[in-house]
Amino acid sequence: MSKKNTIDQLKQADLRGRGGAGFPTGLKWEMVKQFSAKKKYIVCNGSEGDPSIAKDGFILAHYPEQVINGIKIALQTIDHSSAYLYLRTDYYQKYKTKLKKVIGRSPITLFKEIGGYLSGEETTLIETIEGNRQEPRMRPPYPPQSGLWNCPTLINNLETFYCVNQIATQQYQRTRFYTLSGDLLNPGVYELPINWSVKRILQETNNLLSLRSKFFIQIGSGVSGEIIKSTELNRQVNGSGAIVVYKTKKHKPISLMRYWAKFFLDTNCGKCAPCREGIYRLNKLLCGNRINRRLLDDLLFVLEQTSFCPLGKSVTVPFRSLLDKIY
Ligand code: SF4
Repeated sequence: MSKKNTIDQLKQADLRGRGGAGFPTGLKWEMVKQFSAKKKYIVCNGSEGDPSIAKDGFILAHYPEQVINGIKIALQTIDHSSAYLYLRTDYYQKYKTKLKKVIGRSPITLFKEIGGYLSGEETTLIETIEGNRQEPRMRPPYPPQSGLWNCPTLINNLETFYCVNQIATQQYQRTRFYTLSGDLLNPGVYELPINWSVKRILQETNNLLSLRSKFFIQIGSGVSGEIIKSTELNRQVNGSGAIVVYKTKKHKPISLMRYWAKFFLDTNCGKCAPCREGIYRLNKLLCGNRINRRLLDDLLFVLEQTSFCPLGKSVTVPFRSLLDKIY
């Protein structure tokens, strides 16, 4: 397959990044290819740090050859490139021997993540590999133009590289990996068609029948995913493919909000005041027995509008949807 063909095939398959943002993969590869530089980098991001997403670990356990082959295809497509496979610490420990065998002599370096949730954000990931403090960088310039050591850098999620291999070997069936968790009989990671609704996914995984009592669901990007009601099961799942089911009698909205707020308190990097202070205030606000809704809305507005990176902005998604639909 020629280099041009690879990018055309990715475009034709309408492959979009599986890390959460859903940017068109072929377009990203084309951008990195077009910038002229003596050195370019490819990073495969396998640092999923959200408690309700486990697809990268599943893919590493079952399809390491496909992932490495996807990275090799990128190395062939992007001139003067070498690659990093950036892994969550436990995945690194568990799969390094197997991965090194599959990598062989290819210029792919395994990199053990230092950090957690935020280190998967692409500019934070760049800072981490460069050995700097774990904080996001100002964008623009974006990584395809100036990433690792200011060189054009292609960053894709581990699942995306798996899909690249499937496309190149004519095995791509327009599927994606969903992580199902919460109050379900059959939680787990499933590879299913990308256009299936939440209802169909729950049906085909034998989970729908177990949901007789009232429930609501968080879909998309794990902790920062949107809440949907049981009447919205015709929705498709975007983001990182997480589906978390909450039975209403088991989960009080206030407890859920406290859990999210604590999670974001523990995972924000502290670089910018709106997120650092805003999430601190959010935690304080949720400690009380009665929520000041106006103050909460104001806090969420400021977080969304003024946070430096996607983490601070995305905090608002679960809170707003829960408050509007369930609370
Ligand atoms: S939004 Fe939060 S995570 Fe992002 S830079 Fe600001 S403090 Fe750090």
